[in-house]
Amino acid sequence: MIMGSIGSNLQEVKRRIDAACAASGRNANTVTLLAVSKTFDGAAVREAHAAGQRAFGENYVQEALAKIDGLADLRASLEWHLIGPLQSNKTRPVAEAFDWVHTIDRLKLAERLAAQRPPGLPPLQLCLQVNISGEASKSGVAPGELPALAHAVAALPGGRVRLRGLMAIPEPAAELQAQRAPHRALAALVHALNAQGLALDTLSMGMSADLEAAVMEGSTLVRVGSAIFGARA
Ligand SMILES: *Cc1c(COP(=O)(O)O)cnc(C)c1O
Repeated sequence: MIMGSIGSNLQEVKRRIDAACAASGRNANTVTLLAVSKTFDGAAVREAHAAGQRAFGENYVQEALAKIDGLADLRASLEWHLIGPLQSNKTRPVAEAFDWVHTIDRLKLAERLAAQRPPGLPPLQLCLQVNISGEASKSGVAPGELPALAHAVAALPGGRVRLRGLMAIPEPAAELQAQRAPHRALAALVHALNAQGLALDTLSMGMSADLEAAVMEGSTLVRVGSAIFGARA
């Protein structure tokens, strides 16, 4: 990684988001940039924070907890999102330390997070991960099982978790049109759930390689790692 480049990389990613918004008639302030800091250290997060970035995504619970701890002095102005797989036995520290979890793919996880979210904190914001490309190796709920899960999570009592939307990691594709198809499919799933009475406002989709396609299809939150922090080891 070239030192001092995080600020300029952030500017370039925002320029790409703005261009994709302009190309699709969207207002640029409807897309949140989540900086994916997995494998990068707290100093990199500090540098991005100094450049104005506030929302950060992490994949690995243990790595994230250490980083969140080391950046405790910035906690009030940071938002931490878990975007990697979550095991049932790791829900408690996640419920205590994070603001968002994007990878809910079964009711049990949401139930545990709801039970474990400390009362003094705002509700934990949740997205359901959908296996939108139908890849056997990918986690996420199958589209056919999504409505039942979404209604069950939205109906959890107690107000400790709030269902915000859907997240997906589509199969990589080189061409813009091929990239757009799975993002369009995820957007259609959100619209269908809202037509059934839910009030989802978040589409977590788009990464370094396909953020334009995702924004054109309605992404409200792009998760960008390597284009900000550099290639991962
Ligand atoms: C690593 C990761 C990203 C960021 O990927 P880049 O290609 O580096 O932008 C986004 N979402 C998830 C779920 C990831 O694991």
